[in-house]
Amino acid sequence: MQILDLIEKKKNKFSLSKKEYFWFVELLVKNEIPDYQVSSLLMAIFINGMNDDELFNFTEALINNSKKINGIPNNFLNISIDKHSSGGVGDKVSLIISPILVALGYDVIKLSGRGLSFTGGTIDKLESIGISYEYNENNFQSLLDETHMILMLQSEDIVPGDKKLYALRDVTGTIDSFPLIAASIMSKKLIIENDYIFLDIKIGEGAFFKTIEKGEEFAKLVLKISKKFNRKTVIHLTNMNQPLGRTIGNAIEVKETIDFLQNKMESSNLKKLIYEFITDILIDTNIAKNKIEATSKINEVIHNKKAYYSFMNFVKTFSNDYKKVESNNYFNPKNKIEIFSKQDGYLHFESTKNLGLLSNFLGAGRFSKEDIINYDAGIELHFDPFSYVEKDQKIATLYSNKEITNELINKFYDCLVYSNEFTQQKDIIIKKIQ
Ligand code: URA
Repeated sequence: MQILDLIEKKKNKFSLSKKEYFWFVELLVKNEIPDYQVSSLLMAIFINGMNDDELFNFTEALINNSKKINGIPNNFLNISIDKHSSGGVGDKVSLIISPILVALGYDVIKLSGRGLSFTGGTIDKLESIGISYEYNENNFQSLLDETHMILMLQSEDIVPGDKKLYALRDVTGTIDSFPLIAASIMSKKLIIENDYIFLDIKIGEGAFFKTIEKGEEFAKLVLKISKKFNRKTVIHLTNMNQPLGRTIGNAIEVKETIDFLQNKMESSNLKKLIYEFITDILIDTNIAKNKIEATSKINEVIHNKKAYYSFMNFVKTFSNDYKKVESNNYFNPKNKIEIFSKQDGYLHFESTKNLGLLSNFLGAGRFSKEDIINYDAGIELHFDPFSYVEKDQKIATLYSNKEITNELINKFYDCLVYSNEFTQQKDIIIKKIQ
């Protein structure tokens, strides 16, 4: 078999066989195909897509060339869950949901990612409090027994084919191909023996999927893969037209997470999303009969602080910075600037994507792979989008370890839109697909 034959075939709209995908991924993982030929094949796939069989075979080839993760859940429900988001601005949902699920009796095992473009990543947020765990079969089960939640980095032996392809896709304009994204995400879900996968596909201006139709089309591909591999998957399409919660950054999002778990929830959209997700998980896994019972179970573990203690136990187990986190001494930006409203009106964000980019400019995200993150950088909002604010009211605080220039402050003002009329915020959950 020759790689050039595969490129020619795919370029001319023929499908590749199972044997060809398996051969390709095996050689890719062994570094036996030059990057220029891998990139060329990726572009041919990007342009001509994959049929269902190709999608399944490609996903299987990625899985076959990876270590598998078999954690045995042993919290009191013995159900293990992977909850994953396609990425948004201020999206700290995995951080908040995981300890609540642990307090409710589930185990959470997942691979998380770093920030991508204008969206933040769970791994960067965890690293801001000294947590950086790569799968290690020698201590994995004991860590799971201790914390019931493992949020880990993709190490070299975990779906190495995806790791290599992702790095190349990032620099060859081939990220946004639905089959490539679906195989990439699902291979990393399927190598973990979880009972359920809950996927949050974010839709809107502050997300990678801009329309409901595109989100649905992608969700269907993912469901096809999960059916083929016999894994229960539930997908929610959720609204990402406004930032999620009151903070954007890394350590500052951990702070909002801890506040939430201590029942200090300021943001209505974040609270709604978390409660609706967990309610669905409780009902789908037959632990609650209905919404009322589910809400009462969630309230209980927040009010009795079980969820908070689950998070702190996770931090204590995985981080040397536990004392700093416990004493609330982990978010110490050198500079901060308070932002005041220039007028009265109902206020929301015209561009959530630009707000995410501003957070990156402050130092919270990367513009190139080599950039070093400033974990203390970020944005704190002092209002909920679409609420009424008055002139001179404090609406945000920008944080950074570098100088916060007028240019950056103006970028914040540029993201705002005022209106004289109240408009109802769109529902945070758009639809559920399973
Ligand atoms: N996240 C992934 O893991 N893979 C993609 O291709 C895109 C987002």
